Amino acid sequence: MKKIFLIILFLCLICCGCGKKQPKSDVLSEIYKRDKIIVGVREDAAPFGYRDNNGNLQGFDIDLAKTIAKSILGDDKKLDFVIVNASNRIMKLASGEVDMLIATMSITPQRQQILDFSIPYYVAGQAIMVNNNSKATGLRDFQNKKLIIVFGSTSERNIRSNVPEISILGFRNYDDAYKALKNNQADGMIADDSILLRYFLKDKSLKILKKRYSKEPYAVVFRKEPESERLLTQVNYVMDNLKKTGKLNRMLEKWQIIN
Ligand code: GLU
Repeated sequence: MKKIFLIILFLCLICCGCGKKQPKSDVLSEIYKRDKIIVGVREDAAPFGYRDNNGNLQGFDIDLAKTIAKSILGDDKKLDFVIVNASNRIMKLASGEVDMLIATMSITPQRQQILDFSIPYYVAGQAIMVNNNSKATGLRDFQNKKLIIVFGSTSERNIRSNVPEISILGFRNYDDAYKALKNNQADGMIADDSILLRYFLKDKSLKILKKRYSKEPYAVVFRKEPESERLLTQVNYVMDNLKKTGKLNRMLEKWQIIN
């Protein structure tokens, strides 16, 4: 399954390249030329990317995109956001629809074969959320039961490849996954603790089990191609600065992301 997905993705990448006769240009130069950065972000993953009551995009990932735009183009408004979800984000990047992704995306060895990542800005971990009356204490209590996942996430991959005896109920976004858990459509939901926490904080009929099942280093994501290398270097420079000056921690604190 994994191999088929990678082959399809590679074919898409090759086709995208073949379609255009002229050589592809450097992405950072393109950004300077159009005077805008196009970033793929989430609207279903609070507090990293979500819509506030007025419908505006908010969150840590949105702030990080603004910081990068300010540093590269001198203006944090010189940005176009494209909404992505966990399952279509790689395609949207590969097709050239976006310059980069800031979309709660974890660095994994499998993804590193086809994508480039910046230095990480946060490390989450997979956790299980259940309704309060659940007796489950860990993954092994879900054998022959049903867990909710979001398609395209590392949790989906983890469960499918490591615990096949658990059946899966999948959704395209976290809100639908949360509603399904509330409606008892499954016995629990597995996702990054950083994302689950927002549901738990506003809904005390839920609990998050103690154990963590992975390390999820979030990073900015680029096409793996020479044309994206200067952009990657520039973004890493911005991120490195944010880390050294303590601004990264202050941004995490602003969104109450536990460090
Ligand atoms: N960080 C995980 C991933 O990259 C899950 C969060 C998400 O849905 O993006 O797949």
